[in-house]
Amino acid sequence: MKRYAVFGHPVAHSRSPRIHAAFAAQCAIELEYTKIDASPDAFAGAVAAFGRAGGLGANVTLPHKLAAAALCEQVSDRARRAGAVNTLVRASNAWHGDNTDGVGLVRDLQARHGLDLHGRRTLIIGAGGAARGVAPALLDAGIGALVVANRTPASARTLLDAIDAPASARACGLDSLPMLGAFDLVINATAAARGDGLVALPASLVHTGSAAVDLGYGAAAAAFLDWARDAGAGVQVDGLGMLVEQAAESFMRWHGIRPNTDPVYAMLRADDGG
Ligand code: NDP
Repeated sequence: MKRYAVFGHPVAHSRSPRIHAAFAAQCAIELEYTKIDASPDAFAGAVAAFGRAGGLGANVTLPHKLAAAALCEQVSDRARRAGAVNTLVRASNAWHGDNTDGVGLVRDLQARHGLDLHGRRTLIIGAGGAARGVAPALLDAGIGALVVANRTPASARTLLDAIDAPASARACGLDSLPMLGAFDLVINATAAARGDGLVALPASLVHTGSAAVDLGYGAAAAAFLDWARDAGAGVQVDGLGMLVEQAAESFMRWHGIRPNTDPVYAMLRADDGG
């Protein structure tokens, strides 16, 4: 049996096993995909043990994406720019790393939601691992001017430097948001829903043609998407489609087959009650 896993801490909530089991059934591939909870101290040892036990690939979620990059003998260009790895691929006796978060978001926005990203003035709120994964992919997809706003402004600057952003890209703190005008695409890439919540956002950030995207899903996306609707953004998207698309890209890396994501996306929506 081919062995795959998702590493996280905590990881009990992960929907990746259900997604990969559905992809595998669709493609008639027999595999085992388990959750492995490893604390930061235990992560490198747990990945090594998984490799020795025949593990062929893994997904990596919070808080291990940076540590995963450090374990890899080679990383893809998109993982290098993101500085983070969410997909490990076994190659001989070493791990190769990839980051499929960004391409997952872009595919969800373009293919599932029919958004033309080209030229869209874009605001990313947050500068953590997810923001670093999606920003390069959005630039590659042709978005217009990019602003990254973060609670800790220095991290927004670090992000732009790390991803080789064009000189026109700007970094700022959340207190600058009322002065920035309207964006065609506003992405909430913060983990604020897990903590004290996001500061009140000004309605001036969006217009009727704007798309507002929260990388979280379920209850975690509700506050931001409610704000976006009330502020007048024409389109609201949560992160469930990105979750399925990044998984499909990992699946493609491991098995060389692209699964049909639509039925799996519909299955997860149904799990959530529609
Ligand atoms: P990180 O912990 O790496 O980054 C957290 C970010 O959130 C930082 O920019 C941090 O700011 C900011 N932040 C945290 N709390 C607050 C707050 N109260 N107010 C303002 N900013 C805050 O997390 P990730 O980047 O990995 O994840 C971010 C989100 O993206 C999560 O909701 C996660 O679930 C989601 N995600 C979704 C995926 C999908 O497939 N749909 C894939 C990956 C992530 P500071 O720098 O100041 O601390």
